[in-house]
Amino acid sequence: METLGQDLETMRRVPLAPAHVDAICAIGGEVFYPAGSVVMDIGVPMDRFIYVLEGDIEVVDPDTNERMLKSSLGPTQFLGEIGFLNGATNIMRMRASVDTRVIEAPRQAMLELMSQVPELSDHLITVFSARRRRQFEAKNDTIKVIGADRDPNVQAVERFLSRNRIPFQSYDMDATDGETVAMCSLIGHEPGVILGADTRLADPTPRKIAQYLGMDLGICTRRTYDLLIVGGGPAGVAAAVYAGSEGIEALVIEDTAVGGQAGTSSRIENYMGFPTGISGTDLTFRGQVQAMKFGTRFVMPRRVEALARREDGSLCATLDDGDELCARALLVATGVQYRRLPIENLEELEGAGIFYSATEMEARFCSQTEAMVIGGGNSAGQAAMYLSRAAAHVHLVVRGSSLAASMSSYLSQRLEADPRITIHYHSEVTALHGETWLEAITLKTKDAEQRIATRALFIMIGAAPNTGWLSGLAATDEKGFVLTGAAAAQADDYATTAPGVFAVGDVRAGSVKRVASAVGEGSVVVNRIWQYLEDTRPEAG
Ligand SMILES: Cc1cc2nc3c(=O)[nH]c(=O)nc-3n(C[C@H](O)[C@H](O)[C@H](O)COP(=O)(O)OP(=O)(O)OC[C@H]3O[C@@H](n4cnc5c(N)ncnc54)[C@H](O)[C@@H]3O)c2cc1C
Repeated sequence: METLGQDLETMRRVPLAPAHVDAICAIGGEVFYPAGSVVMDIGVPMDRFIYVLEGDIEVVDPDTNERMLKSSLGPTQFLGEIGFLNGATNIMRMRASVDTRVIEAPRQAMLELMSQVPELSDHLITVFSARRRRQFEAKNDTIKVIGADRDPNVQAVERFLSRNRIPFQSYDMDATDGETVAMCSLIGHEPGVILGADTRLADPTPRKIAQYLGMDLGICTRRTYDLLIVGGGPAGVAAAVYAGSEGIEALVIEDTAVGGQAGTSSRIENYMGFPTGISGTDLTFRGQVQAMKFGTRFVMPRRVEALARREDGSLCATLDDGDELCARALLVATGVQYRRLPIENLEELEGAGIFYSATEMEARFCSQTEAMVIGGGNSAGQAAMYLSRAAAHVHLVVRGSSLAASMSSYLSQRLEADPRITIHYHSEVTALHGETWLEAITLKTKDAEQRIATRALFIMIGAAPNTGWLSGLAATDEKGFVLTGAAAAQADDYATTAPGVFAVGDVRAGSVKRVASAVGEGSVVVNRIWQYLEDTRPEAG
């Protein structure tokens, strides 16, 4: 299966071409770091590109100040990882192990150079992505998440980090190994997050973590952007790539994590170009990197709650904290969100045994328990297949009498043949049991009711658009899907009833609910938006 980058271990190391080093030298300057000095510390923005001329730079543990990784960076190598593209916060302490001489180039100038020299850009992005992959997979990092097994807030942080492919290390509070006990004692044996050497967050939220990591960019609310893209699922990310490549100044606002629904799929097998499949998170992460390379910016986790039009025709989105962001055009790419089950006790147990996605993070709560998945669509089927590797057994609960109408046949055939999965047709979950964590459910079948012990229930029962934030500016159908093209009396397929507001992907009435169609729509709409921006460009002077 494809992932977010190459494997650093097996990648051939190629030094930067001499002409590229000269070009970096021309926009930067030489800096000397005596042995033992910190070249870049944890918690500072990655504001410069650093190329090693002489010496050696190592990663050190912020607690012990001991060397953390076997490998280090020597002459002809460079610092940095994918966060450099958006000026994110550095999360590794880098120290000169011997006297070291480097070239340092300011980040902005370096990004401009990368856009002028594609071979340089390709080289750096390949290495940056491979480093991010290694950091993410090694789970040996300076962000420590403690107690996701106990606390839904910590779990939300872990989900945010995991779905945004941010490296972190997770500790379950029940584990008794020495490292976990030591880590838990650092934070008073309570759930929480430790950042770097000395930042403890006892009351963590995804937003606080994003602020620390520089993801919740210091966006300027006074300027008017060309385009706001609301939603960072496949449709929004595809639009972000094309907007950047067309020179449109765009900002993506994402409520949870880049990837949207696709980000909750562990294996997408029907997206062209990935014959062995790719996880939705890795696919959209690659898209995000591509968009950032072209200069499109992302802010998250921020939720758009309302929309208004100013007298000059521009569109202003109000965010969950009251900030307002304005642009000349706006793309609605907010997809759909899973419906909740109308059942008692649901809210109390969300994050404590009740889940709406089945990624590696949730899968770990299934070990040694039977897992229940409710739903008859592709997403429920994929979740059941995926969880069957981790859970003692998986029960798939379906209201109808077969999967044929709602699920791709390759998937339903696999499910029906898998001895680790039981499909309960004509069935529904009618009660949840448990105080602080789900302990069992009641399953009502055609002619009986039974109690099944489980600590993990996945609800995937169809989804609805959330378009209330459009504040009535663009018309929707009776279910809340946005009307576009002929349905909105517009010549353009993706134009809504509101001038300058376009809609693509699952949120659009009549769209095909697939990754490929969301990506396709997000890509082609940019051409129409570009035309709209040209047609409505204010006269200069
Ligand atoms: C588990 C699962 C497996 C799937 N597997 C496949 C598959 O194998 N093949 C396939 O083709 N399709 C698959 N699909 C369907 C596919 O993922 C969707 O069709 C696709 O993701 C739609 O993309 P989108 O960008 O339109 O919307 P979404 O993916 O829904 O993304 C919308 C984004 O907008 C954000 N958002 C919502 N409201 C706001 C707001 N007010 N402010 C800011 N941000 C907001 C959300 O957080 C979300 O990230 C699967 C879906 C699921 C759930």
